[in-house]
Amino acid sequence: MKRYRYRAYPDGSQRRALTKVFGCVRVVFNDVIAVRQSSYRAGEPYPTAGELSKRLLTAAKKTPERAWLSEVSSVPLQQALLDADRAYRSFFNSMADKRRGKRAGIPRFRTRHGKQSARFTRNAGFGLEQSTHGVGFLTLPKIGRIRFVLSRPVPSEPSSVTVIQEIDGSYYVSFVVATPTPEPLAPVQRVAGVDVGLTDLAAITYSDGTRQKVPNPRWLRTKERELARAQRSLSRKQRGSKNREKARHRVAVLHRKVRETRADHHRKLALKLIRENQAVALEGLDVAGLARTRMGKSVNDAGWSTLARLIREKAAEHGREVIVISRWEPTSQLCSVCGVKDGRKPLHVRVWTCVFCGALLDRDFNAAVNIIVAAGLAEKLNACGGDVRRTLACADPDEAGTHRTGRENAVA
Ligand SMILES: [Zn+2]
Repeated sequence: MKRYRYRAYPDGSQRRALTKVFGCVRVVFNDVIAVRQSSYRAGEPYPTAGELSKRLLTAAKKTPERAWLSEVSSVPLQQALLDADRAYRSFFNSMADKRRGKRAGIPRFRTRHGKQSARFTRNAGFGLEQSTHGVGFLTLPKIGRIRFVLSRPVPSEPSSVTVIQEIDGSYYVSFVVATPTPEPLAPVQRVAGVDVGLTDLAAITYSDGTRQKVPNPRWLRTKERELARAQRSLSRKQRGSKNREKARHRVAVLHRKVRETRADHHRKLALKLIRENQAVALEGLDVAGLARTRMGKSVNDAGWSTLARLIREKAAEHGREVIVISRWEPTSQLCSVCGVKDGRKPLHVRVWTCVFCGALLDRDFNAAVNIIVAAGLAEKLNACGGDVRRTLACADPDEAGTHRTGRENAVA
């Protein structure tokens, strides 16, 4: 299953109808939590999903307090009930240590201040229209035909669609589509080693003797500075004031923009790497560990783990290989030309000369070559012939086919 998300622009009456659906979804979700809590206090067994549906939807709609639930499509309400049920199940599994990944907390009541969403399945009878000029329409029962920006086509019939309103007020539609059968790309000879860094997003060396540094885009830096400024301004505003509300909205908008632009940048890089290389070697990073050190902020910013995940996803989709090497591999201590290990170097050392073979090494490119070797792809480098390792790892740009993407960063 894969999600396709688009920015949507509901008109006034659609926005009012959506607000109503979001409200109903929230009430049903919260009703489940309330029922669960009260049966817990009473020492009774938890009602099943079927009982909850009868009690909180069918029966509730006949009471004056909940009669308005019948004014919206019943599908998103049913889905809210399932969501609450699922949230409890992951919580219990987490408690019993049966769940992998992040621990699930106890489900909480939802408020109208958070992110809002409503999911419509096929049963709801939603309609999707796609045009060739970047406009799409989603028709929802009792809401209407909502326009959205069709930035890429929805590849096949979606099984469900979720309408989302982010905290900053912007709307999105997110379609769930069965994953298209993987499309293996024609095999290529080249492999790549990727070293992710702080100065640059990544230093990449290729087995054909070319290399590149991908900078963190400058516009992202600019937006991040703007965001920091907006956050400072928010913290100075009086609680409960109109100005604070405005500042909060501004922070939320900037947050979203930074998130979106970064994700876009990562997606493009991941796709390019997978398209052009048969195998991609990466370093398994202890991102959680690094984030605790003083470099924390920049590490989180670069979103290394997201990039690695995207590369793995694209590889699976296109039949390419991703090799993740141990994070204990001393990639920045070895000379990739002669293999001598000459110890740790502080982070500010960007270039050094190997004491054994005299190669002048670029820290990041040297690490990227070592990553290829550690991934067991050394023969790909050898196949290239000549002194390819020296060409790839050297610090003198004139000696290598270096090219950089995006704007130039000052070479450290
Ligand atoms: Zn050496």
